[in-house]
Amino acid sequence: MEKKILLISTFSDKKFGMGHLKRSINTAKALSDFFYPIILINNNQEAIKEIEKTQIPYIKVYSKKDEIETLNKVSSEFIIIDKRDTSFYKNIKQITVAVDNYGKDTDYFDFLFSPLPYIKEFNSNFSSLKYLVVDPNIFKIKKKQNKNINNILVSFGGSDPNDLSFLAKNLLEEILITRSFNIKIILGPLYNGRLTKEKIDNPNIKIEGFKDSLYSEIEWADLVITSFGITAIESLIANRLVFVIDPTDYHNMLSKKLKIPSVIGDHNDFSNIKNMLNDFIRYPFSPIIELPESNSFFASVVKDILANKKSTCPVCNNFKDRIVVHRNGVNNVFFCKKDKIIFRNETYFCDKNYGSEYFLSSYKKQYGKTYEEDRGNIDRLNRKRINVIKRLLGRKSRPKLLEVGSALGFFLDMARNSGFIVKGVEISKYGSDYSKNILKLDVINSSFTEIDFEYPSYDVVSMWYFIEHIKDMEKVILKIKKALKVGGILALSTPNCYGITGRKNIKEYAKKIPDDHYYEFSPRSLTKVLEKYGFEKLKVVYTGCHPVRLWDKIPKFLYPVIIYFMKIFGLGDTFEAYYRLKK
Ligand SMILES: [Zn+2]
Repeated sequence: MEKKILLISTFSDKKFGMGHLKRSINTAKALSDFFYPIILINNNQEAIKEIEKTQIPYIKVYSKKDEIETLNKVSSEFIIIDKRDTSFYKNIKQITVAVDNYGKDTDYFDFLFSPLPYIKEFNSNFSSLKYLVVDPNIFKIKKKQNKNINNILVSFGGSDPNDLSFLAKNLLEEILITRSFNIKIILGPLYNGRLTKEKIDNPNIKIEGFKDSLYSEIEWADLVITSFGITAIESLIANRLVFVIDPTDYHNMLSKKLKIPSVIGDHNDFSNIKNMLNDFIRYPFSPIIELPESNSFFASVVKDILANKKSTCPVCNNFKDRIVVHRNGVNNVFFCKKDKIIFRNETYFCDKNYGSEYFLSSYKKQYGKTYEEDRGNIDRLNRKRINVIKRLLGRKSRPKLLEVGSALGFFLDMARNSGFIVKGVEISKYGSDYSKNILKLDVINSSFTEIDFEYPSYDVVSMWYFIEHIKDMEKVILKIKKALKVGGILALSTPNCYGITGRKNIKEYAKKIPDDHYYEFSPRSLTKVLEKYGFEKLKVVYTGCHPVRLWDKIPKFLYPVIIYFMKIFGLGDTFEAYYRLKK
C-alpha cells in the first residue's frame, strides 16, 4: 500500500534555535515506516542546510498565508506542528497534532503532545518525556551509571550567553584541589565568553571546540554538567549522572519539575553553588522519570491517533467552531462554540455495566441515598413532568406512554395512576425486575434499539436522563419514530452543558463529565438535532438551578428570586424538553 503524506511543520531562527527543526527531522525518520513525511520550513538558510543533510523532502513556506495555501493544496490528511506559538491552524482540514505548542490555537488541535515540562498546568493528550523524539544515535550509547565519577563533561550549548562554562571551570578547579577528575569543557560555535582567552594550567581540564555531535563525549562521561535542555535529557537517557546549572529562573523551574539536580548559575552565588556541586559529587543521584527507550513508542502512538477521523460537531457537521475542552490519551471531549454541544471522538466507547450497583452504591455516592430511598424527590419531579405532558397532550382518554430507560419504574407508576396506559423498556435487569415484581408494571428488559415496534402506537415517549448515554443517537431517534404517533409528544431530560457551570468554565465542566455520557446538549443543540428528524419544540423547563453555583455568597432568602432568574436565562445545569413529532 502506498504511504500517505504526513506534513511536519516547524520553524527555526536565531531566537528559537534548531531544537524544533532537529526534532522534526527525527520525527520524520521515526514515522517514515508508516508515512511519507514532508517537512514545511520557514525560509532560513541554516535550517534548510540541516534538512538537506537528510533525504527528507521539504517545502519552503514564506509566511503564514503561504503555509495555509500550501496546506489547502497538498493532499495530506495529517500535519504535525512542532513550533512553540501558532495562531492559524484553527480551520484546516488536516488532523492536527501539535508538539510542545502553547499558542493561541491550542484548543483547536486534534491532539497535543507535551513531552517537555511547561511552567503552567497544561492539559495535553500525551504529556511525558517518554514521548520525546530524540536523535536515535543516543540509544546506541552503552548505558552505565558510574557513581564513581572519573570523567566530567561540561557543555552549555551553542552560545552560552551567561558564560556558565567559565563558572563551571572555576567551580571544578576548586573541587580539583581535593579530588581528581578528567574534565572536558566543550565550547559552542557561537561561544564568546572568557574561556576563549583564558589559559588553563590544570592538566586535568581540557577545553575543546564545538563538535557536530556530543554523543561520543556523553559516552565518555560519568557526569554531565549542562543547563536544562536536550543535552541534559539525552545524558539521562544514556543513564549518565547529570548536574544542571541553569541560566534563568525559568530554566530552573523546568529542571525542578523533572527533579533534576540543579542550581541557578548566578556568578555571585559561587560558594553556595560550589557546596551543592560538591555534595552532589559526593552523593550523586538521578531523578526517577519516564524517559524514551526508543522513538518507536512515539511513532506507534502517532500512527494510532492518525487512524482516527477528524471529529466534527454532530449538529453543524463541521470542525471550525469546535474546541477540545478536555484531553486524556486518545480521548477528547469537544465543545462546539456555535451549537453549544459536548461530544467525544468517534472511537470513544464506555463499557458501563448498568447493574444493581448503578441504582444502589453509585447513586448513593452521588446523592447520599439509593435510588429507591430517593423516591420522594423523584416523585416530586415526576409529578411536574406528568402535569406538563398532560397539558401538552390536551384532552385524550387513556393515552399510551412508553418510557425508555424506565429505571425502577417510579415515573411509570405515577403515570399509570394519572390515567396513562404505560409500558417501559429498561436495560438493567435489577431495574426491570423491580418494576415488574414490586410495582407490577409492564416493562421489557432490553436495549431500546433492539425492540421492534410494528407501527407507531404511542402518544408519549419519555426518556429521563437517557439520551446522553447513547453513542448512536440517530438509531435511538429513528426508533422513537417507529413507536411514537405523528402528533405525539417526546419528553426528555438531560444535562445542560451551557448552564451556569458550563458557562463559567467549560473546561472545568468537561473534566467532570461522567465516562458514560457521549453527549451533553443545551436546549439549542438538542432542538437542532431533533428538528432534523421532524420534531418541533414545544417547551423547555430549566432544572438544576442552584444559586450557589452562580455565586456562593448569595444570601439564602434571595434564592427564590435567583432561581426564577436562572430559569429565565437558561442557567440550569439540567433541563427538560418537550417536542411534538410533526411528520
Ligand atoms: Zn456545531
